[in-house]
Amino acid sequence: MSFLELAILFVFGTAVGSFLNVIIHRYCPSFFIFSRKIIGGRSHCPHCGGILRWFELVPLISFFIQGGRCRRCRARLSWQYPLVELLSGLIFVVVPFYFLGPISPISPISPISPISPIGPIGLMGLVLVIAWVLVFLTWLLIFFIDLRWFIIPNELNAAIAVLGVFITAGLALGQDFISPFSDSFLRYYALIFSPWPGQVIINHFLGALAGGAVFGLIFFLGRGRAMGLGDVKLAIVSGLAFGWPDIGLAIILSFLLGGAVAAVLLAAGMRCLRDKIPFGPIFVVAAAAIVFWGEKIIAGYFQLFSLPLG
Ligand SMILES: [Zn+2]
Repeated sequence: MSFLELAILFVFGTAVGSFLNVIIHRYCPSFFIFSRKIIGGRSHCPHCGGILRWFELVPLISFFIQGGRCRRCRARLSWQYPLVELLSGLIFVVVPFYFLGPISPISPISPISPISPIGPIGLMGLVLVIAWVLVFLTWLLIFFIDLRWFIIPNELNAAIAVLGVFITAGLALGQDFISPFSDSFLRYYALIFSPWPGQVIINHFLGALAGGAVFGLIFFLGRGRAMGLGDVKLAIVSGLAFGWPDIGLAIILSFLLGGAVAAVLLAAGMRCLRDKIPFGPIFVVAAAAIVFWGEKIIAGYFQLFSLPLG
């Protein structure tokens, strides 16, 4: 992918990020997330209600030119606006570059035939890129909505479920053209943990089952206090998108990360033991890390136990 293509994708991604900001800031649990109540109407300042002009709506740039304040009432604007725009822009650059670039997790069966834009593997690559970009955007929405409302909207979990079906179908149909273990972000380590390595449909079904079993058990044992039903659904649909064993590592990492976040918040006096901490944002960060560093994380873990040679 050329620099120009990546630059165009980034700018487009920041514009999508502006749209995601509208959803995050106007979301209200009693309305369907894509209803006109939430996404309709002109953009306005949340403080003075002034309708924003086009030059106040340029992603990233407007925020910094205005020094993070409304042009009319000088009220401080949330740092989430530029952050969401930046993250969305990065998703549009990093995910396609990761799947289609030189470090692609999908490697063709024959090293002589690189991933071409045409043919079955090119088509599968395209399906995977689009599906994963959309999964990341949905995770981004979940991160900020759960942080604010302690709710993971059903609509967003349903979107990941649909994308999970596309990812599974794309991998299953392209299976004959990619090397074994290209269907797992843990690559060859999947062999150790999966009873049916390379069985795409079984593994993705198993992933959903594992996500539901682990989080469902915590929900049941904690009587809904330790974890919400939205978290259970998120684990199920993310398990469908990931497949087994990737979802297993994502869950373990999310628990480690959750413990670390809780410890830091307690130590900093920002939360006490009885306070709730939304688990969605933590799970989303862990899951995103598995996509890019799943193989490295598991390799690093095994290295901890390897004996120094010589
Ligand atoms: Zn204002």
